[in-house]
Amino acid sequence: MKRLFPLFLALSLSLSACGAPTVGDVGASEQFFAMDTIMTVNVLDENGEAAVQAARAEIDRLEQMLSRTREDSVIALLNTHAGDGSALAVEPELGALLRFAQSVSQDLPGCFDITIAPVMDAWGFTREERHVPDPDTLADTLALVDWRALTVAEDDASARLEEPGMAVDLGAVAKGFAAQRAADAIRAAGGTSALLDLGGNITVLGSKPDGADWRVAVKDPQDTERQLGVVSLRDKTLSTSGGYERYFEANGITYHHILDPETGYPADSGLLSVTVVSSDPLLADALSTALFVAGRQAALDYWRSRDDFELILCGSDGVVTVTEGLTFAFRGEEHGYTCETARR
Ligand code: ADP
Ligand code: MG
Repeated sequence: MKRLFPLFLALSLSLSACGAPTVGDVGASEQFFAMDTIMTVNVLDENGEAAVQAARAEIDRLEQMLSRTREDSVIALLNTHAGDGSALAVEPELGALLRFAQSVSQDLPGCFDITIAPVMDAWGFTREERHVPDPDTLADTLALVDWRALTVAEDDASARLEEPGMAVDLGAVAKGFAAQRAADAIRAAGGTSALLDLGGNITVLGSKPDGADWRVAVKDPQDTERQLGVVSLRDKTLSTSGGYERYFEANGITYHHILDPETGYPADSGLLSVTVVSSDPLLADALSTALFVAGRQAALDYWRSRDDFELILCGSDGVVTVTEGLTFAFRGEEHGYTCETARR
């Protein structure tokens, strides 16, 4: 196992600077590729290797279950059987995940739909052959998008897609679900202080070993080398969705990978990025995608209706809206942003 990555090195330097034992002496870290992205798991407890390996095993297990491009995954099987009337037996944890995704669709109408897969394919986002689909193809695939036509048994043990051609894509929730399970695995292995970076979805367990909050940067969506600000966190996930993460250009127009399920086109709600902070990694991941489609006003309305997440919304108008429950050090002014606080 590799022990020192740049982030890790920075952590050990800052720790040694204030007299605590260096992370390299007691913690463990591993970086790997999973779910189509680079992931890093850092456990800062003594003998952290077992916890790191437990987290990685969970992530690998879930990728095997959730990836629709792996022919033998349960999701690929669910998709293959679309419309043939058979209900596929699934692990209850997967049934519960599908139902959770449906609850987000219900709460935020027109914003979130895991049956978006055929439209993702029409844009070539799945196979790296990205292009603007022709109108007929777009209309045909959009007609297949309907989360209500995904039936999940009440005991979560089986699922079925009602129409031929329908397909599920869990890209909006898989990393959050993996973070949830990986964090559980770290706790079960005795880990108390950890930082997981699953492709930019950051989950922190506990505090830093010296008792301080973790400090996690939020990127400037217009220049990801820069920061909009830094959030202080403990036992939370910070998940960001933005049009800058996966996109292509055609005829001078940028097309990104978060689609509006109503139009089939990349969402154009006036937001450049949405960051959700929550104790629930899965909720943070799902909502960052859904609220990116919803836009600033709908996102804030939804925030006011609940008490289990906070938001940082970066608009194309240069306004960064931060909900009042966060400790956020704004750093965007020199890059032309202004910051406002949203209150309940
Ligand atoms: P990232 O994977 O870049 O972290 P997200 O968590 O926002 O970003 O997820 C984006 C992925 O979610 C897309 O690649 C696609 O698989 C899926 N997706 C795109 N649009 C929607 C949508 N409106 N509802 C549900 N899933 C979506
Ligand atoms: Mg998401």
